[in-house]
Amino acid sequence: MPKEDTLVVHEIYRSIQGESTFAGVPCTFVRLTGCNLRCRWCDTTQAFRGGRRMARAEVLKEALSLGTPCVELTGGEPLLQPGALPLLVELCDAGKTVLVETSGEADVSGVDPRVHKIMDLKAPGSNESHRNRWSNLAFLSPRDEIKFVLSGREDYEWMRRIIAERELAALGAKLLASPVWGELDPRDLVSWVLEDGLPVRVNLQLHKVVWGRDTQGV
Ligand code: SF4
Repeated sequence: MPKEDTLVVHEIYRSIQGESTFAGVPCTFVRLTGCNLRCRWCDTTQAFRGGRRMARAEVLKEALSLGTPCVELTGGEPLLQPGALPLLVELCDAGKTVLVETSGEADVSGVDPRVHKIMDLKAPGSNESHRNRWSNLAFLSPRDEIKFVLSGREDYEWMRRIIAERELAALGAKLLASPVWGELDPRDLVSWVLEDGLPVRVNLQLHKVVWGRDTQGV
């Protein structure tokens, strides 16, 4: 079978979307196995390995069977697998609102324009800031979102500088600022954003507010 006809899947489940402007929306998650980054604060390390290889058609069928209007492809890093791009197309063709959460390192140029890309830009506190693929910015549109996960003041100041230097507000993509759970007090982040009048949305991980730290399957 050609590589793009199968996917290694960690889990497929239904929950609410947790961290974007779609937060709170019922959503089916297709979590693929594997990531080529190792963010210091990663909360999905369980998806680095394991999973089961499935035919792409089976993944599509299972994702559609859960019946939510919104489907998100996530990981790990979902775009590392050759089957991810055609699966995104098929989900769009099925009439779904389709989201992909991606690290900012993987190339997003081939993602179907109907998909809402939620793309990280890694701040220094992740230890993976040097992996940001800046050329991805050219492929973002107002339907997309850029997410900064921030572990402290240094990360915040990095985000503030990047927004200005790269003129991110002009892209039209929504800008999300998200505190690392248990490291940066959201109240500090809110006060910094208000003080500086930054054009970002402070974004809490709703699934963690609801279920706590362990996010396996939720
Ligand atoms: S890119 Fe995402 S899945 Fe990969 S290490 Fe970073 S936070 Fe974890």
